[in-house]
Order: sequence, then structure tokens, then C-alpha cells
Amino acid sequence: MLSLFFTPMRKLYRLMKRRQAILAGNTPDRCRRIERVHPVSGKRLAAMTFDDGPCASPARPGDGTALTTALLSTLDRYGARGTFNVIGTTAGNYPDREGRLGGPLWSGVLYDHYPEFGQDSLAGVVNQPEMTRAMAESGHELTNHGYSHVAFGPMRVIYGTRRHLADAAAGEADVKRLDDLVEQLTGRRPRLARPPHYIDRTADGQTAYDIYRRSGHLYLAASYDAGGWRPAGSYRQSVESMVGRMEALLKRDPDALNGAIISQKNGYNMNKESPVVDALPRQLEILKAHGYEIVTVSELLAASPFADTAPEDPTAADARTLLAAGATVAYRDNTLKPDRPVTWAEFRGLLDFGSARSILPVVLPTGPVTSGALLELLPTVPAAPTAEIGVLRYQDSPLLRRHAFRFAVLILGLAGQAGENKE
Ligand SMILES: [Zn+2]
Repeated sequence: MLSLFFTPMRKLYRLMKRRQAILAGNTPDRCRRIERVHPVSGKRLAAMTFDDGPCASPARPGDGTALTTALLSTLDRYGARGTFNVIGTTAGNYPDREGRLGGPLWSGVLYDHYPEFGQDSLAGVVNQPEMTRAMAESGHELTNHGYSHVAFGPMRVIYGTRRHLADAAAGEADVKRLDDLVEQLTGRRPRLARPPHYIDRTADGQTAYDIYRRSGHLYLAASYDAGGWRPAGSYRQSVESMVGRMEALLKRDPDALNGAIISQKNGYNMNKESPVVDALPRQLEILKAHGYEIVTVSELLAASPFADTAPEDPTAADARTLLAAGATVAYRDNTLKPDRPVTWAEFRGLLDFGSARSILPVVLPTGPVTSGALLELLPTVPAAPTAEIGVLRYQDSPLLRRHAFRFAVLILGLAGQAGENKE
């Protein structure tokens, strides 16, 4: 019954997030949204993120094993490296009262409490330093999910009058507090961050991107929801739904999760169960059967043929010139070689809907068309009412945005030619 209200609200919420993401992705920015990474050819790589831990609540009721420990041993068994979006502690989020199970306020009416109301000492880096070290030492990546897991700003549609941080400065302080703690415990400062509940807009009109730009993080989004946060009926049904959905997806398209960032829970779902503990081994089995390797998000970024030009990099000025001219083509080593040919695979990269937004695309050598030629042709291609295509995702300048439509048409035309040349 609840889903009658909840599902449309979630859909609306997703639409709003989508719009925010598009707006955020249209600005040249060193805080990029990492949602999905362009896949490496000849390989299937994906990353798996686990939110809200570390968590020492029982993996299953009556089970002596802690949830995070169980997840770590499953990941190790499959040679998979996870990305843990850890929190500091929710112990400071009182006074509060317990929420109703099955709804978005299940752990607390005014705040979140992990793993559950009144049991805050079982979760978070503050309370579980050993578990935190164990995650880092086993080769998993730790990212910043907020010290207190208090949202950066209001989200009245879903969370009503829930408490949120006062402004962006408070968000930054919350993030920094957790970074310091993780660095102290593991010797490494998180490079990526994900806002609690993906709530981006702060009460003073800024966004998570503003916060992360100042704190030096990339925004860690996800492209596939493994479903562990929302019960699908009984515990067993929840497990089966998590496994079944992934199985069906990969059966339809074995490449569907290539380059994907898969989101999981490292805590309870809204029924205070952790179906992830039983779904994960089966999901990893399915992924393995399809040739997938599960790596950390940083490893996924490093493996991608796309790379960034940092603003202080000596080649950044060249990159900006090219961007201003309406192109987004550069090489992996951040040098610009307009006379080098563009390969078919690179075209596909430009056309790919699934690719990560606002990663500065990098084009590798050999092929029939050069990036210089693309640039020259740009002003001569007539605008035509054809499809929206993936190249729009690569726009990083207002000028390119203006020309994107023509650029898209151009790319489509040339991709056709390149396709004929292929094999
Ligand atoms: Zn969370």
C-alpha cells in the first residue's frame, strides 16, 4: 500500500536528481559526477559501492558474524574489491524518535541512525575503527558518505521536515571531519564522496558539487541500483529480487554493467534486514560467469580510456582551447594531436549513452578521421532534426553546448563512414 505513494515519489525524486545532474554536468568543473565509466575494450569491469557502514550488526538475525565482515569475506572469496561509502557515526543525531519500518524514516523521524535507532555504536568509522582498517587493508576503497549522515539540505518531497545541515559550510565541515578520521585510521584520504540520500541542494542555495569541489572530492554517483535498500516482500523475496534482476539484465545484455557503478547497502534495508549478505555471493557468481571483474571505483577510473586534465596541468590550456573551439577530443596523456586519426572505437565512445558525464574524453590513435578534421567540419554541418546522442554528455563548455546538435549530426555521419571502414 505504501508503494502507491512511495514509488511515484521516488520517480519524481529521480527526475529531479537527473535534472540537477545535467545542470551540474554542464559546467566545467573539477568536481565531476562519476556515475558510470567508459568501459575498457576487451574486458568487463564494474565497481560496487556499499553505503552506510562499517556495520557490526549481525549479518542475519542470530548470526554471530558482523554484516561488514560477512560482506568483506564474500568479496575476498570472489577476488572482488569493493568501494565502501563510510559514515562517521550517527550517535550525535539525538534527540529523536524511532520511525516506522517500511518507510523512508525507518531508522529515525528526524535523523538517520545506523545500523538502527538506539544502536548507533554498532556502525560508523568512529565506532568500528578495526573494521575500517580491515576494509582498507584488504584493498577496498573507502569514500566519504558524511560524518553524521545528516543530509546536506532539505528534501521535503520524501523526508518531510527532517533535520538537515544548516548550509554548505556545515556540509564541508561534516565531510572534512570524516576525511580526517579515515586518513588517521587508514593513512589514506578518501578521493570520492557521496552525499547522504544523494541530496545535493543545500539550504543556502549551493550544491554537493560546491562542497566537494572545495573539499577536493569527485562526486560518486551510481548507474545500477542493486536494490538492497528497499524490501521486496519477505527477506527471501528481497534476496531473490536482487539476484533475479541482475541475472535478467545480464542475460538480455551481457555488457549492461560494463563500466557500471553498482550501489549496495552496508546496513539494513527499510525492514531492518540485510538481504545483501545473501544476494552478494550470487550476484558475484553471476557477474563472474559473464566475465566481470569487480574493482574499486578509483581502479575503474584508472582503467578507463578516458582521463582528466587537471586545471594546473601544462596541457590544460590546450584542452581549454579545443573545448572553446567546440570539441572534446584529447589524448589519454592529456596532449592534443589534431592530426592523429580517430578510431571506430573512439567514435563509439563519443556516441555512447552509457558513458560517464563530463569526463574529458580522450581519443586514442589510428583510424580514418582526425579530430582536426572534426573541428574543421564543425561549422559546415547543417543542423538536422535527428536523434539526441551521447556526445551531448561530453559537453563541457557553453560554446560546445550551442553547437552540440550540429556536432552530434557530424559525429553520426562520420561514424557511419567509419563503420564501413571497419573490418
Ligand atoms: Zn546513506
